[in-house]
Amino acid sequence: SIYGDYIKSVIRTVPDWPQPGVNFRDITPLLQNSAAFRKLIDSFVHRYQEMDLDAIAAIDARGFIIGAPLAYELGCSFVPVRKKGKLPFRTVSETYTLEYGQAEVELHADAFRAHDRILIMDDLIATGGTMLAAAKLITRCGGQVVETATIIDLPELGGSQKIREAGHNVFAVCS
Ligand code: IMP
Repeated sequence: SIYGDYIKSVIRTVPDWPQPGVNFRDITPLLQNSAAFRKLIDSFVHRYQEMDLDAIAAIDARGFIIGAPLAYELGCSFVPVRKKGKLPFRTVSETYTLEYGQAEVELHADAFRAHDRILIMDDLIATGGTMLAAAKLITRCGGQVVETATIIDLPELGGSQKIREAGHNVFAVCS
């Protein structure tokens, strides 16, 4: 993408966090830098302004940070995809497997209308499990997943490939 190298340069890698052997990609220096944050949101606006989206489904919690300004700028709905137990109304949920144990994402049953054109947004794709669970949830609820978008893809972990094999487009600002 247009600002990919620049965005990558303002993401910090924290070694051995949250556990030994993991290189955590930390977007807080990017958010702290107003020019970088603007370029990030502009990259998504540039890609999605002509795609006639009905909603941005953003994943709890860092997906919210980028999903909200994008929904504001595009003039479409903001739909939170949350971790289990956070949404107060009637929910639908999807369980997925992590390296150790399981996780669950939830959506309000009335979050969008059938056939709505939806972009799923998160900050990072690692194994792809989170994004795929969100895509399944939205598809089950009758939404049309136009694309899945992220700031960072870690291609060596195979997640983006898995998402593409499941039939979804993947857009990453940087890898
Ligand atoms: P996946 O389900 O394995 O693709 O992991 C992606 C999810 O875990 C996203 O919701 C990310 O926010 C989070 N995540 C995993 N690794 C990192 C990282 O290095 N930095 C920030 N978030 C991460």
